[in-house]
Amino acid sequence: MHGAKGCMLDEVRARLPEELHPLAALAGNLWWSWQPDGPATFRALDPERWRGNPVRLLRDVPRARLQSAARDPELVARAASLARRMADDLARPAAAVAGASAACPIAFFCAEFAVHPSLAIYSGGLGGLAGDFLKEASDAALPLVGVGLFYARGYFRQRLDPSGWQHEHWIAADPGELPLHPELDSEGAPRKICVDLRGRAVYARIWRVDVGRVPLYLLDTDVPENDPTSRWITATLYVGDRAFRLMQYAVLAMGGVRALRALGIEPALVHLNEGHAALAALELARERAARGVPFAAAVELSRRQVVFTTHTPVSAGNERYEPGELAALLRLDEAELRLAESEHGLLGMTELALRTASSSNAVSRRHGEVARAMWRHVLTPPEGGETRISHVTNGVHLPTWMSPPLRELLDAHLGPGWPRDPRAWRGIEAIPDEELWAARGRLRSRLVEFVRGRSIADRLQRGEPIAYVEGAARVFDPSVLTLGFARRVAAYKRLHLLIHDPARALALLRGPRPLQVLIAGKAHPRDDPAKALVQRIFALKNEPSASTRVAFIEDYDLEVAGELTAGCDVWVNLPRPPLEACGTSGMKSALNGGLNLSVLDGWWCEGFEGGATGWAIASDGAGGDEAQDARDAAALYELLEREVVPAFYERDAAGLPRSWIARIKASLSMAISRFTASRMLDDYVARVYGGRRDGLSS
Ligand SMILES: *Cc1c(COP(=O)(O)O)cnc(C)c1O
Repeated sequence: MHGAKGCMLDEVRARLPEELHPLAALAGNLWWSWQPDGPATFRALDPERWRGNPVRLLRDVPRARLQSAARDPELVARAASLARRMADDLARPAAAVAGASAACPIAFFCAEFAVHPSLAIYSGGLGGLAGDFLKEASDAALPLVGVGLFYARGYFRQRLDPSGWQHEHWIAADPGELPLHPELDSEGAPRKICVDLRGRAVYARIWRVDVGRVPLYLLDTDVPENDPTSRWITATLYVGDRAFRLMQYAVLAMGGVRALRALGIEPALVHLNEGHAALAALELARERAARGVPFAAAVELSRRQVVFTTHTPVSAGNERYEPGELAALLRLDEAELRLAESEHGLLGMTELALRTASSSNAVSRRHGEVARAMWRHVLTPPEGGETRISHVTNGVHLPTWMSPPLRELLDAHLGPGWPRDPRAWRGIEAIPDEELWAARGRLRSRLVEFVRGRSIADRLQRGEPIAYVEGAARVFDPSVLTLGFARRVAAYKRLHLLIHDPARALALLRGPRPLQVLIAGKAHPRDDPAKALVQRIFALKNEPSASTRVAFIEDYDLEVAGELTAGCDVWVNLPRPPLEACGTSGMKSALNGGLNLSVLDGWWCEGFEGGATGWAIASDGAGGDEAQDARDAAALYELLEREVVPAFYERDAAGLPRSWIARIKASLSMAISRFTASRMLDDYVARVYGGRRDGLSS
């Protein structure tokens, strides 16, 4: 158990020669992970041992190697310079925003954060968004802290057996090899907060992860004071059992507010990023009520401090509970229960958040329309008006998601500081076509190498015959049009449309102008139909001549997402409208010069500019799901056959696909100007944090 352990980072520093101490400072803050020279600096210390985790690297590098590195002036200077840049970044004064300051920051609550692959406390788009939000807040010097949970068993690992059936396992994270700083009390013991759940005191310690300038506080109930079941509360991300999940939400929300108090942080604003943390608003009201303010007035006062973002219209993301389920966990009185009232006598966290926040927003323009209709019963519009849910379209953190080849190309042509200079973006048009196409070629080649490496490893793990294992070295072709489809295998994402008409799909793979397809994604551990679909996709490898053109990459995570969104030429998304609230993987692809082919839903309703930036399928639900699927699959094949494949393979005398490159430029400009986290954060500051309206009717 890690409860008794001190800080591994101190031990790591202690074993380094003084010349290398800057590396320990860098390893203790995830800031390095989004600097262009960050990973390479650690790799230089020990290329053989480098697996992307600096804490583990510094712990494991043999002493002899440390000694020789300390005598390498280039490496020492490089580490010192990077550490100095970090110190300068951390020393910048905070921006003054919406009454927030370093002493009174915005507290951003979320059940998951995808900051780095080594810290697997995320499972999908919500976590990705939250991780990007923190990084962008750091870059923008926004006074913000994150609040979340430390799941030792976070995102599960996926393995397929030789039949293609998914198996899951969890690897318990070792806090000793993560950049976790224990928050300590005045005696040097772990600082703990306490929440009353099921009539028992549940304790949680607080870890801090430094995300650049932004501290992310993670609560962890695995402490000796707790009984075995309470110790388990934060053990697993989105556990199947509803009571456990509710306890997680209570620890996150109520425990989170208490943790801020224990740390002496007075939040100017509490941002509930998705409904999981809704009980935080109640906790703020309860604090005021405890000081003698009548409950209704306490809710009104707290409301000014709370903003809410809803992230999905899918019902699994807006769970409802029997009053008894909540009562077994928390003592909520009548007035409190009314705030969470949902339909059919049930209670909901989204409802609670909508009724206790001064501002609520959806995550794309389309999702705004959907959310306003969906939550009309909760937020009764003022006479004749509309339900007050606004939208801020999501964006992705450019330094994290733009891969080095593209970044270097744009640095060379747009000048320093271009990501924050809208005038510089006009220069994209003038980048020589051959240079842009060469960069895309490098990205595709890198992706093919990645696919081959992963395929060999996956086949070895599955115990496949040796000839088949070694055949993986010949899969994929760096000159062939490459499609990617990678995301959670949830029913509404409609992965099955790819093989709706298997003969037509296979003809595309085998044609004289072929395409190759990369698929990745995890099915929820309890979702057998989704696993069966993965198995059907996996079986494509048995089709003659398709086996070298289709690959299923196991264990989709942040790292796989980075490789695939960087290297694929076309990023495919086929959600059943209107269930894709936003979607962000397509933005990552566009930032790397990939083109989107997507159903018009979520962010693509804003990004699709009549064909200039990619391709769209205008899906409609007439005639039921099956009819819709048949139409949308046919539209997908048609677009591929008639437009995508010809445009990719049509080359001029210089060997360049000019119309394709024109699309890349339009799509890249679109992504940089409208779908980065930088634009998103500006919108939050202007429209949510700054422009709150008090007293939403409920
Ligand atoms: C970006 C990202 C997502 C979100 O993808 P969408 O399919 O667009 O919702 C999910 N998981 C990971 C690991 C990501 O990096």
